Amino acid sequence: MKNAVIMSRVSSEEQAKGYSLDVQLDQLTNHCKKNNIYVVKHFKEDHSAKDFNRPEFQKFLVYAKNNKQNIDLLLVTSWDRFSRNITDSLVMLRKLEKLGIQVQAIEQPIDMSIPENKAMLALFLAIPEIDNDRRSIKIKGGMRGALKAGRWCRSAPIGYRNTRDHENKPIIVPNEKAEYIQFIYREMAKNTNQTTIREKLKIKGINIPKNTICNILKNSVYMGKIKVPELGNEKELLIEGKHKGIISEKLFYKVQRVLDMNKRQRNITHYKTQREELPLRGLLYCSKCNCKMTGSPSKSSTGGKYYHYYHCNHCHNERHPADKVNTTLDEILNDFKFTKPTKTLYNEFVKSILNAVEKDDKKDLNKSKSELKKIKERISKLQDLLVDGKIEYENYENTMIRYSEIKQKLELKIGESDIKDVEFKNWLKMGFNELTIIKKLYDKSTVGQKQEIISSIFPDKLRI
Ligand SMILES: [Zn+2]
Repeated sequence: MKNAVIMSRVSSEEQAKGYSLDVQLDQLTNHCKKNNIYVVKHFKEDHSAKDFNRPEFQKFLVYAKNNKQNIDLLLVTSWDRFSRNITDSLVMLRKLEKLGIQVQAIEQPIDMSIPENKAMLALFLAIPEIDNDRRSIKIKGGMRGALKAGRWCRSAPIGYRNTRDHENKPIIVPNEKAEYIQFIYREMAKNTNQTTIREKLKIKGINIPKNTICNILKNSVYMGKIKVPELGNEKELLIEGKHKGIISEKLFYKVQRVLDMNKRQRNITHYKTQREELPLRGLLYCSKCNCKMTGSPSKSSTGGKYYHYYHCNHCHNERHPADKVNTTLDEILNDFKFTKPTKTLYNEFVKSILNAVEKDDKKDLNKSKSELKKIKERISKLQDLLVDGKIEYENYENTMIRYSEIKQKLELKIGESDIKDVEFKNWLKMGFNELTIIKKLYDKSTVGQKQEIISSIFPDKLRI
């Protein structure tokens, strides 16, 4: 008979959505009964799973260290209950393995005795999240969009001017500077240097400060959206604005990707001398104070030999032998080897997710199409009313403006739906193909390349 610690977790945000600890507890105890597993202890937590610095999880770790002989398993319902962070998860799995504890998600079983299977964990953690993100943006966007009016109420950003619409409510409309905004976005999408963009603008006769360009490039108002900032438990939201966008959503997101990529490259601290022994220098974060760690060689006390260490220069509380850390990372990368069965499984998985997404998008598209049909019918009815003299011209005009705006938005949405689809699919497919050969790539790389690989596959802070 195996002994298990069971763990349930909901964040306050999830709780508000109706997820409950009791349901998880029921599922876990039933599973244990069925499989003849003895439950030693239950930890329940109402904390988000950004990292393992959660009160109950820390209590569990202390308990696990003191009782490791009596624990074979840590059971959760699904992997996102364990952690939402793939890097942290892989490191934590290793820590627990060393204590003789195996982690299992009962709804998403993975045979962890086969190291390659750990790659599946990345799927379970990463992909449902993408899907959830898309869903929650849609659902919440709709709900809070009704609350928030989708109007930009402050002074208009460059490229727009403040005015009032037919309902006499404040709205922003593009002005003569809108073309410069389009120019800036188009250049940035080509990854043109921002100084060069400014120079090109000067030739066109307009001087825009560097900081302003940065702000312009991040402002979603230009694609016709209004950002509703984070509030309490509610995440930041983007809602459809009442105003017209100057650039397309596609261009906006393309630019965000370019900016992200540039930022990642800047984030890597470049040292004058790259040391083979310290490939993770400038990438590791201190688990005590969350600052970037550095690394250096130090002479052994008996003299002669040099040993390399990663250490925190801020709080001075963390110091790890470099070879140990490097090995851990090598092991983690090794787990990303894909066997034939995992590859097949992965493809099936992606297919099912794509199908679900496709269904969603199709539903959306069909809805937009039927809305468009309806609005066109209304427009022609409205015209009939005017021709038959059954409506005042002023009323006609106001309603017509409203209908035309709706019609335009729907047409734009329908027109862009194809593009977004293809991009999302390619991204899903490509991402994992690259992961399958990552260790080979890594071993052959220079220190600089190694750093780029690490920072691109582990976007979260890397802590050991
Ligand atoms: Zn520190």
